[in-house]
Amino acid sequence: MLRFNEPMSKHCSLRSGGKTSAFFQPTNLNELSTFLKKNKKPILMVGLGSNLLVRDIGFDGVTIHTKNLKELNLLDNFIESGAGTSLAKLSRFALANFKYGAEFLSAIPGSVGGALAMNAGAFGSEIWKYVVSVKTINFSGEIKERYPSDFEISYRSTVHKNSNELFVSAVFNFNLKKQNDNVADLLEKRNSTQPIGLPSCGSVFKNPKNYFAAELIESSGLKGYCIGGACVSEKHANYIINQNNATSQDIENLIAHIQDTIKKKYLIDLETELIII
Ligand SMILES: Cc1cc2nc3c(=O)[nH]c(=O)nc-3n(C[C@H](O)[C@H](O)[C@H](O)COP(=O)(O)OP(=O)(O)OC[C@H]3O[C@@H](n4cnc5c(N)ncnc54)[C@H](O)[C@@H]3O)c2cc1C
Repeated sequence: MLRFNEPMSKHCSLRSGGKTSAFFQPTNLNELSTFLKKNKKPILMVGLGSNLLVRDIGFDGVTIHTKNLKELNLLDNFIESGAGTSLAKLSRFALANFKYGAEFLSAIPGSVGGALAMNAGAFGSEIWKYVVSVKTINFSGEIKERYPSDFEISYRSTVHKNSNELFVSAVFNFNLKKQNDNVADLLEKRNSTQPIGLPSCGSVFKNPKNYFAAELIESSGLKGYCIGGACVSEKHANYIINQNNATSQDIENLIAHIQDTIKKKYLIDLETELIII
């Protein structure tokens, strides 16, 4: 399915941002490959848009939405998942098949592809710890099999060592011993400390070495501080909430204000975790 001038606010959890000139939702890998072979425009790959801020000016290129690449298969001991599968669904599928280790993913509202791109993590675990292999597609539509050693993987960052490829699926090894962590308890822990359910992108800033971004922001008196419709959450200072029809510019202005304040007070540079397009 190909649409034009699609508002990205519909596809980003911050609910802000301009339009993408083209929006393509492939139904399967062949369709995606055929499309890429002909395409000459810049590409933006989007999963659940839970870590994306698209500027108000929009994106002059093709946004590829992975929503329909959502197959889930049990392969002997491993689980294969399409890039568009939600992490919550992957986590439920693993548990239903008596596979343990994926519980932490239930608390992250992203897709498998987005989580691989971000090396998403929670409760002390990160997604790449469980990856056996991934399938990628390049901008010429060629599909490759890659391994964790093909990437530089660090805190909320995954960089391909050789080329620029997009994730289309992954094989996971969730074969830990049964965990004491119960998914409902993890979600409860999360809901009690974070403003879940409001339009946000989760943590806006990476934690600087030896510090927590939320503590630095809170101790600078910025909880509740707003620019336009964008506000620092009262519940968790590393969250920005789109409280009142914020534009992406409001959100970026608030990000810049927080960065300036922390730099002046602590001489620390806060780096964004969210991706700005
Ligand atoms: C309430 C809330 C709580 C959150 N909590 C956490 C948390 O605990 N831990 C955590 O790590 N994150 C957290 N996040 C952030 C976010 O959920 C994760 O980063 C998630 O992995 C992003 O997945 P996505 O599908 O939404 O990616 P998107 O936001 O769609 O994209 C993020 C980046 O990945 C790229 N990308 C997306 N799909 C692909 C693909 N198939 N191939 C290549 N690149 C791709 C995009 O181009 C973009 O650069 C939270 C967000 C919210 C809103």
